Amino acid sequence: MASHPLPDLSAPPDAETASHPAAGDGAETTDGSGLAPVRASVEDDSVDAAESHPAQGEDAEPAWCVQGHFEEDPLVDRRHVGAEVMMRLSLAEAVDRGTDLPPAQRWEPAYLTLRLVQPLRDVLPTLCVYRDPELAEAWATCRVPEAGMLADLLVLAAARAEEPIPAGDAAPGAPFWLQTACPDWCTTRHQPDDCYENRVHQGDLLPDGEGVIDLLLEPAVKGHPEQLEVVVAHHYRSTVGAVHLVRSERTELQLTPAEARTLARHLSQLILTAAAADGAAGQKRPNGGETRNGEPLFPCPHRHHWCQGHSKSEIIEARRPGNHLAHSGPVGSIPFATGNTLGTIDISISGRPEPPTAYLQVVNGDGGATLDPTAIDHTIAALQRAKALILEQMPWLPTADREGSTAR
Ligand SMILES: [Zn+2]
Ligand SMILES: [Zn+2]
Ligand SMILES: [Zn+2]
Repeated sequence: MASHPLPDLSAPPDAETASHPAAGDGAETTDGSGLAPVRASVEDDSVDAAESHPAQGEDAEPAWCVQGHFEEDPLVDRRHVGAEVMMRLSLAEAVDRGTDLPPAQRWEPAYLTLRLVQPLRDVLPTLCVYRDPELAEAWATCRVPEAGMLADLLVLAAARAEEPIPAGDAAPGAPFWLQTACPDWCTTRHQPDDCYENRVHQGDLLPDGEGVIDLLLEPAVKGHPEQLEVVVAHHYRSTVGAVHLVRSERTELQLTPAEARTLARHLSQLILTAAAADGAAGQKRPNGGETRNGEPLFPCPHRHHWCQGHSKSEIIEARRPGNHLAHSGPVGSIPFATGNTLGTIDISISGRPEPPTAYLQVVNGDGGATLDPTAIDHTIAALQRAKALILEQMPWLPTADREGSTAR
């Protein structure tokens, strides 16, 4: 945005008292965790030799952390990392993945990724916003109160962006191209020679620089804190305005009103998550003797109680952006004997970031089936029908046996 003034730096926002809207549902949560350092230089400076092997997460493992800690973790990984929340940016240019890829695979939609990050010795988590799919460098790093203010501003901005442009005539003296009145919040002095893209209604969201958030965790530039500002820009011929999230007047994100609300909801949800009580400590000890492919299993970093656990290599691999832990655990094993054939029907549950499904495997049979809740209901109904048909052919069976078998 070209034309909004520098905010008043002497008026720090009262961040701690900022309210934020109740969190909604629908967070598109995935569970990969990044490898790359956030503020790595700060962490590096603060770790001295005597404490280079701290007792990681032993005392306080936040309930939101999905990192899974090990004694030999490299320095950059010694931090709590929450699950990623991703949202599409429909107004941003698609990401070019490289000219050597075929055209159909070259472009991918731009995403915004959010997650909580907390170096092990920090008291409070920070909320990191990434535009980089590798999650190497955060676009903005906010304290929780800053994220709450941002959520509030985004909701305000979304409502303003959806207000229709007034239908009345333009004010006297308005440029020739402007044929309707400005919205009452527009403070732009429109000019006849404004180029088409700049014919935009715009004004401060809140008076006196209250719509500007100082980012206290970011390095200052020339003595001024880095800042986030939320601005509504409504092009004079658009049905709806855009919400601009401007970082220190240098870079910006453009959001539709709906995306601004989605981002506000994700922020509010992460703020609630950050406040959740500490979870179980000690991700680094193997489960009691259980192994998979010869590797000992460690407790599930996502704390799915149904998950059998993961090998150390799986957990470390899942920290890379785009990688996910595959969770699974046994539910039941039903032995059967038909003639000379002995086997089991093994039922397990498994899930990646998607909702889990049941897996029904017939050992000594061919393959298995992945079942969602509807398919489970249909399977149970079909088995009940099959059972009724079988019992029809066995009128000699005592009633008690019939009922006994129904209860299973
Ligand atoms: Zn942790
Ligand atoms: Zn205007
Ligand atoms: Zn798991």
